[in-house]
Amino acid sequence: MGSHNVEPSTSIMNPLDPEEFRRQAHLVVDFLADYYSSIENYPVCSQVQPGYLTKTMPKSPPMQPESIETILQDVQKHIIPGITHWQSPGFFGYFQSNGSTGNFLGEMLLTGFNTVGIMNPLDPEEFRRQAHLVVDFLADYYSSIENYPVCSQVQPGYLTKTMPKSPPMQPESIETILQDVQKHIIPGITHWQSPGFFGYFQSNGSTGNFLGEMLLTGFNTVGFNWLASPAATELEMVVMEWILKLLQLPKSFSFSSNGGGVIHGSTCESFVCTLIAAREKKLSQIGTQGDLTQGRLVVYCSDQTHFSLQKACKVVGINPSNIRVVSTTKSTNFELSPHALLMTIKSDVKAGLIPLYLCLTIGTTPTTAVDPLGTLCDVAKQFNMWVHVDAAYAGSACICPEFRHFLDGVEGASSFSFNPHKWFLTSLDCCCLWVKDSNDLTNALSTDPELLKNKQSESKQVVDYKDWQIALSRRFRAMKLWMVIRSYGVSGLQEHIRKHVKLAKDFEALLRTNSKFEVMVPRNFAMVCFRVSPSALATLANESSNEKVNRLNEQLLEALNGTGRVFMTHTVIEGVYVIRVAIGATLTDDKHISMLWDIVQEHANTLLAKYECLK
Ligand SMILES: *Cc1c(COP(=O)(O)O)cnc(C)c1O
Repeated sequence: MGSHNVEPSTSIMNPLDPEEFRRQAHLVVDFLADYYSSIENYPVCSQVQPGYLTKTMPKSPPMQPESIETILQDVQKHIIPGITHWQSPGFFGYFQSNGSTGNFLGEMLLTGFNTVGIMNPLDPEEFRRQAHLVVDFLADYYSSIENYPVCSQVQPGYLTKTMPKSPPMQPESIETILQDVQKHIIPGITHWQSPGFFGYFQSNGSTGNFLGEMLLTGFNTVGFNWLASPAATELEMVVMEWILKLLQLPKSFSFSSNGGGVIHGSTCESFVCTLIAAREKKLSQIGTQGDLTQGRLVVYCSDQTHFSLQKACKVVGINPSNIRVVSTTKSTNFELSPHALLMTIKSDVKAGLIPLYLCLTIGTTPTTAVDPLGTLCDVAKQFNMWVHVDAAYAGSACICPEFRHFLDGVEGASSFSFNPHKWFLTSLDCCCLWVKDSNDLTNALSTDPELLKNKQSESKQVVDYKDWQIALSRRFRAMKLWMVIRSYGVSGLQEHIRKHVKLAKDFEALLRTNSKFEVMVPRNFAMVCFRVSPSALATLANESSNEKVNRLNEQLLEALNGTGRVFMTHTVIEGVYVIRVAIGATLTDDKHISMLWDIVQEHANTLLAKYECLK
């Protein structure tokens, strides 16, 4: 045990280094406190012209990391002029969107886990003092994160029982509140930022992202249309074009063609919006006969497609009996078969139904399987269907040239989305969606109320992102993606992906050195699926039925998570219980893979020994 060939990490950066976090976050607190002190110096409504930012920003993302000082200079010079200052005391538009120091601290804490100014909740000096306290609180949290059990060990109701039943009448101090966070909240947190977190898919935090969240919360703009904050809209366009280039997505998804990108909160939202766009387009092509036509629209996916597609279909009103879940098998690596898809569609068409939408996945949630995009898009094309490509988890990896081939064929799709809030050093909520024809989205989702009418929107020279999403109001999410890309550079982001892929390879290699374990599916990215193999049990127990092996692996996962040092989740493939190890938390390093391997062997041996006793 212990003598395995894990190479030392070559990582040159740690995106959650507690001391860098502390230093940079303190700078941003001061930047924002100064912004509030001088907010009345800015015109309340931004005075910039359409295209002001898209014209000045570089057309490609930086290869090398940039310093926080440089980035903040650019915020001052380029972003602030394009902000409509919703926090300005002269803002009387729409309805206000209140910022406050207390809210900001809450946002910092919630982003970080991933004497209160009674008279002025945005008093700049109180803001500065309290926000510095929270920065230190979070930097200390990151330094000590490995002391906490990865998965929270509290019992249901633990917090509802201890918290006061009513809100406090009087303000409480930040010191008191932070004591309560330490005492009551942290024990109830499952530490997604812990290096021992291998569950579900990771949700990457980083200092760059945190600073972006601070700035967007600090500015607290509501950029539903261009005018309501030109910088929010234009920076989103700039960043979406950067990432389009990084992923080498086809030009047809670019704003320079008829396409374009938008940041949604989640993949679920992207499913809903693209389904609606596809539906409206189809109904306008074939002519609506009301419910009769809508009830005949069919959606296709595989049994590996994310379960939230089904919910999206419900939301959109797809007839529940018209969702075709095509079966996949382990023998074909859980890929959706173009032939099986074609047969299913043909039989629907024969029955008088109308093929509408096909959802394909690059990196499925259970096993990170990859659907063959090219041939599947060809099938869909024969029936004039909308194809959405969901790369929620694996899309981030495709910024590395060696993984880009997984997206081959994406040019045949109508839309593509991935979640920077999984593996791209960006926290929830951030899902990037591109469409080939933005009119499909805006035709389906536009609203044009008198209340929001303005010259720039009417000129059709600007993007009004409210027409690209479900909600009206929206956060300035581009700020955090921009901060992440500039803070780490393309090279840093690629290094981040490669590090986790290498760690996953190492872990897979370790499993293969011990015949007690079985690697269950090909490892495409940085997720490894394994179990204790039936043969390990067969030599010990009298019989090793599938059920018995499943039970053993379930017990193993429970024991591993019970150590508090790691957290993993499971899936069931073709009746077989499998432990899923998603390697990709920001702080995970070689030593955590060694630790994982040691405790996996230790607990498997202990469990197997018990079975031997029972014999
Ligand atoms: C995580 C995941 C989703 C869901 O993402 P949300 O942003 O939480 O809605 C969808 N598809 C795949 C393949 C995923 O891994």
